[in-house]
Order: sequence, then structure tokens, then C-alpha cells
Amino acid sequence: MAGRLLLRACTTTTLQLRSNVVARPLHRAMSTAKGIPTDEEQATGLERRALQALKRGKDPYSILKPKQYAGTKEDPHIVPCTGTKRLVGCLCEEDNTAIIWFWLHEGDAQRCPSCGSHYKLVHNELPH
Ligand SMILES: [Zn+2]
Repeated sequence: MAGRLLLRACTTTTLQLRSNVVARPLHRAMSTAKGIPTDEEQATGLERRALQALKRGKDPYSILKPKQYAGTKEDPHIVPCTGTKRLVGCLCEEDNTAIIWFWLHEGDAQRCPSCGSHYKLVHNELPH
């Protein structure tokens, strides 16, 4: 961070190191006189697609912390899926050591057979 700030300061202003020595601003090889490129400007490939999706408010690669759901009928746990069914594990209570596994199918919300929390399958298309 400090290095980046120093480089940015060097590119925007001329530093005078000694009384008779003047340091010229640092320029990139293909500089557009904007200074150091941001992460967004220099990202390529998968990182660029992820940053563009995050800018649009989407999280296609599950980078962000998952949203919390109440698990009620009105606010079921959303389970993203590319197919028509998905195996779901429910840790019914915080201190449980056993996971209750069940198949969640497309359609209406289903309940966990042990605790009764609601889960709903939502179709999710991968970005590639
Ligand atoms: Zn459960």
C-alpha cells in the first residue's frame, strides 16, 4: 500500500531529491498519463469477469459471504443449483455433530426432515 502510494506520488508530481538533482516522474511503458492502473483496469480473465459481475451486484463465484436466511416458509434457505436437484446437508442445531442429508428438488420449498427448516432450490447459471 505504501509502495503504491509512493509510486502514485512519483507519477503525478516531480520530486526534487537534492538541490540540483530532479527526479522525473515514473511512467509505465504504455502509460496513458493516468498513473498506476487500478485492480479493475489491470484484471484479466476470470478475475476481470468476477469484478465486473460484482460491480453489477452479482456473485457468480460465491466470493462474498452467503446471505443469512431465517429458514421459515416465507424466508427459506436459498440453494443455488445448475440442475434439477441437489443434495443438501442441514446442521439442524448449532452444536450438532451429525449432518442431516436430504435431496432438494426443484419446485416449492422443502423442509428438513429433522428440524423443519425450509429450503428452496433456485436455478443458477454459471458464467462460463
Ligand atoms: Zn435440519
